[in-house]
Amino acid sequence: MTEINPLFSSEWMPDALFPARPRLLIVDDQPVNLQVLYQIFGKDSDVFMATSGQQALEVCRQKSPDLILLDVVMPDMDGIAVCKQLKADPETQNIPVIFVTSQDSPEEETQGLEVGAVDFITKPVNPAVVRARVKTHLTLKVQADALRTLASIDGLTGIPNRRLFDERMAAEWRACRRANTSLSVIMIDVDHFKKYNDHYGHLEGDNCLKQVAKILRDGNWRGRDLVARYGGEEFVCLMPETDLIGAKSKAESLRRQLEDLALPHDASANAAYVTISVGVATIVPLDENDVAVLLGAADEQLYKAKQGGRNRVEGRDLSA
Ligand code: GH3
Ligand code: MG
Ligand code: MG
Repeated sequence: MTEINPLFSSEWMPDALFPARPRLLIVDDQPVNLQVLYQIFGKDSDVFMATSGQQALEVCRQKSPDLILLDVVMPDMDGIAVCKQLKADPETQNIPVIFVTSQDSPEEETQGLEVGAVDFITKPVNPAVVRARVKTHLTLKVQADALRTLASIDGLTGIPNRRLFDERMAAEWRACRRANTSLSVIMIDVDHFKKYNDHYGHLEGDNCLKQVAKILRDGNWRGRDLVARYGGEEFVCLMPETDLIGAKSKAESLRRQLEDLALPHDASANAAYVTISVGVATIVPLDENDVAVLLGAADEQLYKAKQGGRNRVEGRDLSA
């Protein structure tokens, strides 16, 4: 059994959720102060160091540390300004910041906490105190990360849920609008699934949804694509920088893969196996149209696929 890293406290969570070595960023314009902190943390964690505010921001983006020990008084850009920038960027806003300062000033401490720091430590640092505080905040950070992950994953299928889809959809809408490129969505609905539940029972129905989700998840997607459970027996795929032809061919390949899996569906009215109907819609996002238009169009195409006999793909390009 692997020992839990002494920089974590495992009381509330399974040990497996903690990373083997936390990543710490230490920022101070005086190298001697960096050295002191390195001696305290170098053994149990991966330590990155920066000697200016600007450098700290760069290292943060490159290394995504789990926690930052940040000097307040630095030439050019001080710790308060660094912390403000970190908290304003979605990529770095969840990294806990602990200020390290030489003065014991309540005003400075208040200001630090107001810009989003989680704690305050005075120099010269006491090794036992700084270790204990870092341990507390690292543990809280890992717990918060785990909660954020859990909140965006569908419990039954293990793939992203609608919450995460909505978030990513909004972000990709903006990205594709800026880049003036197509954004496609694929809406998928299992055919005659009510009959499946009625015939095989709800538990088997759940198993069926897991298998459909697995086919979708393993679909050899590109980096920014996202597959999610939209709700019930409906799934949705987001495909940035993808035109209608590309998205339809992907949809057709998914439809065929499920057909090839040949999960028996004795109660289906249109096939011996579990099948899906698929609606695809594509748009080059503009200011005036919004996400709901694209989703509505995909839904209409899905309805058309159902009307056309199910187990098929329909699609429409809204920018054509
Ligand atoms: P269609 O081909 O027109 O899509 O017919 P359908 O029966 O699939 O559509 P309908 O919307 O009438 O029924 C969907 C069914 O999906 C009803 C609901 O009980 C079932 N369902 C939704 N979520 C779950 C789930 O998590 N597990 C199981 N087992 N069934 C679910
Ligand atoms: Mg449905
Ligand atoms: Mg259905």
